Amino acid sequence: MHKRVFNFYPGPATLPLPALERARDEFLDFQGTGMSILETSHRSKGYDAVHQETKALVKELLGLTDDYHILFLQGGASLQFAMVPMNLLGEGQSADYINTGSWSTKAIKEAKILGDARVAASSEDKNFQYIPKNPDLDPAAVYVHLTTNNTIAGTQYHAFPDTGNVPIVADMSSDIFWRPFDVKPFGIIYAGAQKNMGPAGVTLVIIRDDMLQKCKSGLPTLLSYGTHAKKDSLFNTGPCFAIYMVRNTLAWVKEQGGLAAIEAINRKKGDLLYGLIDSNPEFFRAPVAKDSRSYMNAVFRLPTEELEKTFIAEATDLDMIGLKGHRSVGGIRVSMYNAMPLQGVEKLVDFMESFARKHA
Ligand SMILES: *Cc1c(COP(=O)(O)O)cnc(C)c1O
Repeated sequence: MHKRVFNFYPGPATLPLPALERARDEFLDFQGTGMSILETSHRSKGYDAVHQETKALVKELLGLTDDYHILFLQGGASLQFAMVPMNLLGEGQSADYINTGSWSTKAIKEAKILGDARVAASSEDKNFQYIPKNPDLDPAAVYVHLTTNNTIAGTQYHAFPDTGNVPIVADMSSDIFWRPFDVKPFGIIYAGAQKNMGPAGVTLVIIRDDMLQKCKSGLPTLLSYGTHAKKDSLFNTGPCFAIYMVRNTLAWVKEQGGLAAIEAINRKKGDLLYGLIDSNPEFFRAPVAKDSRSYMNAVFRLPTEELEKTFIAEATDLDMIGLKGHRSVGGIRVSMYNAMPLQGVEKLVDFMESFARKHA
């Protein structure tokens, strides 16, 4: 048996143990080929089966219709901040952006380099501690960009704004596959794999065909969605091993019963943690508005920074790691993605309870 901690890192983040074990078992001899998947050509039959299966799992789990293209790109979610406006924002057009934190702010910065990006709503006035309601949307915008889960601020959309006929472009890096949702309003969904879907190194991009048709031509080859869609993400050598790990992770999600079953566990974990915080308001301070709380990344403060340091050190000694809040927010951040077992959050909540009793 290997030692295995409860890993609450925000990303790269914990992966399902069965997905790692499957990789271990197949590592040296991938399906009787006498090679590791790491050594296999990206144009081989063996790899192609993995590529197609990963796409099929994305499609099935999200309930995508045939008009969505599924791409595996590199450059992280951060490159999508630029690729989206580069491909879609033409002369004389503008896009709406909802600013809910560091990642949205970065997306807006890139869009402004490339075209006219308008901030339709922002929660910056309150340190991004809530999801703004009723954004001031422009019906002529090319798209509305939003960040569905704010990994750093600890907020999450629980209902998406009605954008009418304007397609939503969503950065779902830290909560894709956390629950079922209606994909119809979404023209593009993108997500770095390393939070809720796999290891670092691959970015999932889902683009609806009508959006693809609207993409500009004349872009550098690798920065054009059209290139990757036309070549099934195999224009050049892709991140084969990262895609393989996404396959293992999503196969595990499917085995759990799909997104509805995963959501039920995610809600249990989040409700347990927030329940404890709310029952000890003197000791635990959760700064995020209740209706905007994230089920993926919960942030809270203790009475003093000294106690926060002790809390993190003692938790680490108990094999609960990665609980330090982002440097821009401070405090504690509990990242509890799909792969975090309920037992991990139960153990953490027990620890929080006794810590509060001891230091109250
Ligand atoms: C981590 C994160 C990113 C950045 O992802 P990279 O793959 O490192 O570029 C973007 N958006 C959100 C919401 C994130 O959590």
